[in-house]
Amino acid sequence: MTWSRRSRPDSCHRHFKPIDGQERRKPQKAAMGEGSGEQTFDIIVVGAGIMGSCAAYEAAKLGKSVLLLEQFDLLHHLGSSHGESRTIRATYRRPYYPPLVLESVRLWEEAQEAAGYRVLTKTPHLDMGPAGNPSLLAAVRNCSLVSIPAKVIDSNTDLAGLFSGTFQLPDGEIAVITDLGGVFKPTKAVAMFHALALRHGAVIKDRARVSEIKPDEIAGIRISTADGRIFRGSKCVVAVGAWISKMIESLSGEKLPVQPLHALVLYWKIKEGFEEAMLPAAGFPTFVSYTEPHIYGTPSMEFPGLIKVTLFAGQPCDPDRRDWTAGGGISAAAAEVAEWIERVMPGRVETAGGPVIMQPCMYSMTPDEDFIIDFLGGEFGRNVVVAGGFSAHGFKMAPAVGRMVAEMVVGGEAATVERIGVEMRPFRLGRFFEEVQAGEVKE
Ligand SMILES: Cc1cc2nc3c(=O)[nH]c(=O)nc-3n(C[C@H](O)[C@H](O)[C@H](O)COP(=O)(O)OP(=O)(O)OC[C@H]3O[C@@H](n4cnc5c(N)ncnc54)[C@H](O)[C@@H]3O)c2cc1C
Repeated sequence: MTWSRRSRPDSCHRHFKPIDGQERRKPQKAAMGEGSGEQTFDIIVVGAGIMGSCAAYEAAKLGKSVLLLEQFDLLHHLGSSHGESRTIRATYRRPYYPPLVLESVRLWEEAQEAAGYRVLTKTPHLDMGPAGNPSLLAAVRNCSLVSIPAKVIDSNTDLAGLFSGTFQLPDGEIAVITDLGGVFKPTKAVAMFHALALRHGAVIKDRARVSEIKPDEIAGIRISTADGRIFRGSKCVVAVGAWISKMIESLSGEKLPVQPLHALVLYWKIKEGFEEAMLPAAGFPTFVSYTEPHIYGTPSMEFPGLIKVTLFAGQPCDPDRRDWTAGGGISAAAAEVAEWIERVMPGRVETAGGPVIMQPCMYSMTPDEDFIIDFLGGEFGRNVVVAGGFSAHGFKMAPAVGRMVAEMVVGGEAATVERIGVEMRPFRLGRFFEEVQAGEVKE
């Protein structure tokens, strides 16, 4: 799809009283590193996007000394977790995602309560697609498996009474409406998890590009940064977003088939008189189209008078050498979105002048669009957990992913997934290197 689509003996640690009543371990000066500033932690998390930040918070909450390392400035705009909006929805064609979404909803609420402010604005969610579309039908079935009501509408007369009559179904299409939708403020959400992790004693260092991760006989893991700092940890989480393939190749020699895509998020001007109707307060939904081009959007929130209607597509890129010029066919992509808007949201959005704002971001696509959440194995055994390949749909599930990853590095297994009835199998790292068994059907 381009535009075209490891354990250090516990006795090594001193203890101090934690804020949440749990035993918390304080980072130690490493014996070999005295005087050189080396420090040893229980868990070192590499990558302070939404996944690493949630994992650091969850590990710190489990009473571990945690170091979170980020190559750029915190809250930078060079990865995948920045920007103005991300959506949440439970409509998934694969059955293991709705339970993860529901668990995440619970964890998002807990985190917002702990922080004292909100990063998620709830809205309904609208899916549209051909009546026989297998993915859409599976999404409806999977909602019912987790008791999420999904209302199916197959006539424009019925749809006209909803969402201020904004949407018109193309011939042969149906609409599926669920109450579970909403919009995150992504940069604010990442900052919230930093604040919560810090409150639980985590240490965060930015401008700390990890250049080497090695097994270490003293602690378990030894991490070097490009500017010569050394940190030791019992265990490590690698949550480096679009840099995952480069990082894993440097660690294990394996080439992960995760493709970074440079994407542009498009914002359009709402026609005068329709601005209020497209606000979350008016009940306007997050929305997704299941046809080609694959379009999605959010209510008007980020920029007054503008609405995000954009394309799930991007150009293959090297995350360290991105082409920041719009080029590469964006005008063709914008034309596709404009045509879709005129057909499905007629008369409500100015399309003639093209999008008003375009914001760059990066997707990390796995071939099957499932996440990667697994132990690295090899010489690192179960001391390194890899979390990546979130394939343009990970943000909403970051709190659950963070908890799973923290459970894996702290306790050796993701107890959460068992509790919510989800298997880890779809998320295995090794799946890309295995033959598909005869008779096995990959969705
Ligand atoms: C345009 C767009 C729209 C999206 N919309 C949605 C949506 O609506 N709903 C949804 O659920 N998801 C959505 N997603 C997907 C979601 O945003 C991502 O899945 C999620 O942000 C990935 O987070 P991450 O922590 O894995 O990656 P990142 O946020 O990129 O974080 C990885 C971090 O690791 C750091 N790093 C890399 N290498 C090193 C190193 N060597 N040393 C130290 N640090 C390093 C990077 O600098 C980066 O900060 C969207 C993504 C994009 C791009």
